Amino acid sequence: YNEEIIRPTRVEVDLQKIKQNYYEIKKYIGNTKIMPILKANAYGHGLIRIAKLMEELNADYIGVAVLEEGILLRQNGIQLPILVLGGIWGNQIPLFLKYDLTITASSIIKLKQIDEVASNLKTKAKVHLKIDTGMERIGVHYYNSETFFQESLKCKNIIVEGVYSHFANSESVDLTFPKLQLERFNESILFYEKHSIEIPIRHISNSGAILQLPEANFDLVRPGLLLYGVYPSDEINKNIKVEPALSWKSLVVYFKVIKKESTVGYGMKWKAEKNIRAVTIPVGYGDGYFRSMSHKAEVIINKKRYPVIGTISMDQIVVNIENDSAYNGDEVILIGKDGEASLTVENLAEWAGTIPYEILTNINTRVPRVYV
Ligand code: PLP
Repeated sequence: YNEEIIRPTRVEVDLQKIKQNYYEIKKYIGNTKIMPILKANAYGHGLIRIAKLMEELNADYIGVAVLEEGILLRQNGIQLPILVLGGIWGNQIPLFLKYDLTITASSIIKLKQIDEVASNLKTKAKVHLKIDTGMERIGVHYYNSETFFQESLKCKNIIVEGVYSHFANSESVDLTFPKLQLERFNESILFYEKHSIEIPIRHISNSGAILQLPEANFDLVRPGLLLYGVYPSDEINKNIKVEPALSWKSLVVYFKVIKKESTVGYGMKWKAEKNIRAVTIPVGYGDGYFRSMSHKAEVIINKKRYPVIGTISMDQIVVNIENDSAYNGDEVILIGKDGEASLTVENLAEWAGTIPYEILTNINTRVPRVYV
């Protein structure tokens, strides 16, 4: 982006922080392989740039959610193995093969479809078999896994590179269910030892499990949130020290005095009890600054937190600076730090009644990403 013409609202991603987080995770998992999860625009951090970083860092794999994310990575020259974690749909299979994307096989029917398409195209499909150990989203139930594995052995045009599952609540303080899921997964994959078949890459751990269940690391782990420097929960151990890589910033673009009794914004929900000084910032729910944060959100200007007043609009918010001064061009921090003042993704999530994942993945692509 040309700094001269870039809109005042931007996301700044500190690549050095992501690199540090990556190495902290690596240190903790030892020789286990790593599949950084880059779905949903790399949790808002920018898919292509983060993938390039992962390639520089020699990650073992990249995980994305949908076919289109995988294709975009290939079209931008990414050569690492890429696993598409979501299922397959209809006639997508030839595209997976064309772009050398690893497919999640989540049922016997789909496995056979993949085999058939690969056979027709005279190629081999790389797949990871998905076992459902309790998430109940996609995958073959653990109690049917033996048949699934047996069927996979009959598919001559398929290379079973991996077998995996996913935790439903690995970030929980109570680890009863994650441990049950782990037990189910362990029992399922015993199949390979029992039949003396080479064991595919086994994986199940997301951020919560990496922190809490090292016995679930197997051959590879799949960190998402943690890589970006955010913990999946505040209540669990922080054995891996990570720091947020993303800041969300804007500039003061308008200053005015709001007179006593005037209302601010749609629905006239906020009324000035006295004359105040206020500034307008060009960001709104159209950028992913959720409207549900109205009457709760704060921003930082010149090292101090100030409240956002009135209902958050699509493209603009108004900030009450009381009797303080702020000038056009002053920096406004929506997520990030300035001196002692800090606003975290967790703060925004709390105001919006959601989780950090949703805040990060909803920062719209119309907000330029700047890498520092
Ligand atoms: N693996 C799968 C299959 C996922 O769907 C996700 C994200 O939801 C992850 C790994 C990464 O999860 P987290 O961001 O909690 O590390």
